[in-house]
Amino acid sequence: RVKQEGRGHHAFFTAELQARLMRAQLLSNALRQALANDELELHYQPQLNVEEGRLVGTEALLRWRHPVLGNIAPTEFIPVAESTGQIVEIGAWVLRTAITQMSRWLAAGYPAEMRMAVNLSMAQFRVPGLFELVCESLTESGLPANCLELELTESLTTPDSVSVGREMQRLAERGVHLAIDDFGTGYSSLGYLKHLPVHRLKIDRSFVRDLHNDASDQRIVQAILGIADGLGLKTMAEGIETQEQLALLRRLGCQEVQGYLFSRPLPADQFEAWVRSTDWLPAHRHAENS
Ligand code: C2E
Ligand code: MG
Ligand code: MG
Ligand code: MG
Repeated sequence: RVKQEGRGHHAFFTAELQARLMRAQLLSNALRQALANDELELHYQPQLNVEEGRLVGTEALLRWRHPVLGNIAPTEFIPVAESTGQIVEIGAWVLRTAITQMSRWLAAGYPAEMRMAVNLSMAQFRVPGLFELVCESLTESGLPANCLELELTESLTTPDSVSVGREMQRLAERGVHLAIDDFGTGYSSLGYLKHLPVHRLKIDRSFVRDLHNDASDQRIVQAILGIADGLGLKTMAEGIETQEQLALLRRLGCQEVQGYLFSRPLPADQFEAWVRSTDWLPAHRHAENS
């Protein structure tokens, strides 16, 4: 009997695994046409300075709408694209598109110190040419390097390879900013912060969610802010949804924030409309009028 149950269990997991593999295969096939068919789009989410309410940046977030499968979440298709290597071509498109968009916004009078934040996958570091791609895109668009910030997750930065560190070093020397995304959720040691040219820590939204009634989360956020302060790094918190969270983060000394409280990620034209009409950016609107 026990043996039978065991077998049933095994069959269940096998079926589930098989379904997952088939879904991944389906997405990977569909993804092959996505760029050519214009199914990918970048949405942009504003990033604000806590003290003055300035627009300090925007994060480019990838969206995929398939004609039959509909909207597919990046948390679902990006891991697939990473495992097949398709993320290299898609990531190159993301970089070029985001950089071009930011150069247009700068030309249109957006704050000169504003940054475009772009998420990178480890796979993009494993093939040669990332540094050249970034430099080319910057030169072609005329975007200053310090208006580009590359977001890397912690697991990505586990320096399994010296070459990743070297590529990051070259990018930093070119003037590009580097942020550690989802900070505090990875499993890697903190040692890499000493060796890598990091500018900013992005506090993961899992620590922000219950910040107002979870003392442990408050201490974790405080500790992250302390690490950043000690190492001379800037800080940003993601996933701010409430005024309470914002007030607490301000009190704790977090410098920059991003979250649904201000805006969801928006298509470029809607992002522009948000900048024109939001009450969150008194400093920016003042600069625009003067
Ligand atoms: P991430 O880089 O940590 O991006 C932040 C995620 O949190 C985004 O999810 C954003 O929509 C969401 N978010 C922002 N504010 C809030 C909030 O107040 N509440 C909640 N609940 N969520 C909020 P999204 O767009 O689904 O992206 C998920 C992840 O997919 C990203 O996490 C990033 O790791 C990855 N990703 C997205 N675009 C790209 C890309 O172009 N390249 C790569 N390699 N990865 C990407
Ligand atoms: Mg990110
Ligand atoms: Mg993040
Ligand atoms: Mg995150």
